[in-house]
Amino acid sequence: MTELRAGGATDVGLVRAHNEDNYLADERLFAVADGVGGHKAGEVASQTAVDTLQREFREPTTDGLIDAVKTANRTVWNLAEANPEQRGMGTTLTAVALVDENGEERLALVNVGDSRAYLLQQGELEQLTEDHSLVEQLVREGQLTPEEAQVHPQRSIITRALGLDPEVEVDSWELTPYRGDRILLCSDGLTNEVTDDEIASTLRTVSDPNEAARQLIQEARDHGGSDNITCVIVDVVDDDNRAEEASAALATEPPPPQPEGATSVRTADDDDAGGRATMAPPVVERPAPAPTARPRRLTWRVLVFVVAIVLVIAAALVAVGW
Ligand code: MN
Repeated sequence: MTELRAGGATDVGLVRAHNEDNYLADERLFAVADGVGGHKAGEVASQTAVDTLQREFREPTTDGLIDAVKTANRTVWNLAEANPEQRGMGTTLTAVALVDENGEERLALVNVGDSRAYLLQQGELEQLTEDHSLVEQLVREGQLTPEEAQVHPQRSIITRALGLDPEVEVDSWELTPYRGDRILLCSDGLTNEVTDDEIASTLRTVSDPNEAARQLIQEARDHGGSDNITCVIVDVVDDDNRAEEASAALATEPPPPQPEGATSVRTADDDDAGGRATMAPPVVERPAPAPTARPRRLTWRVLVFVVAIVLVIAAALVAVGW
């Protein structure tokens, strides 16, 4: 059995009067939601999304998680439609869950909006999610550099959120959990204040997930704390010896030709051609079930192995020359 240990924390920050972020750190379901729409709306949206996700995530599969997100979207939408003072409210939602795909344990990851998921694996930090934000879109189109996006005045404008439309497109990924992997879910109140390098450094050095979440929040406050800040950290503390088995298998086999990083499985709703279609990224159909990503450490082992062989051959050539 894969065993996870998680911690989380949220903070209003130094500027805002209310905390419209919410988070969930259950046994096998973890989420961060950042509400928009102002006081009495944003916090209702994020709380409703997290509560609905927890209640509706009954079938522990990636599709089950995506369905729960879609139900959460519709629940927030219905609430906004029914209450004039909450009209227009919405929320981001980034969630990860331990699921069972055909007898294999996987971490399913879903995202809508500009909250983020990161993976720290073998000491290296990688952003897993793609922001659904205006500046991210401008960066993709080459109209802004990532550095300009980081300080852009409109960087908080999101192009996708829960509750704005009866249907929502959900990005999703599947990861193989390896012992030592650490996943961070966070709202933009962290990433607008603290650089990826600083985040990586804290995740590497503070082992307790609750303590690491609190320290990241403190760093965001130290940098100004201009927004609500929320962090959830999920550690894979046991992986059923998957890491050892993968390494042993690799020692006898050449690496198959697979891309690095997470396997992206994006779902798209065909009936989702609403007014914000122009803002949405190009729709990508869900591909056939793809093999799950290989961990980076295996690639490095292969590289070291190849370098060693090259050195041996070079030494032999030098010896022959002598
Ligand atoms: Mn925020």
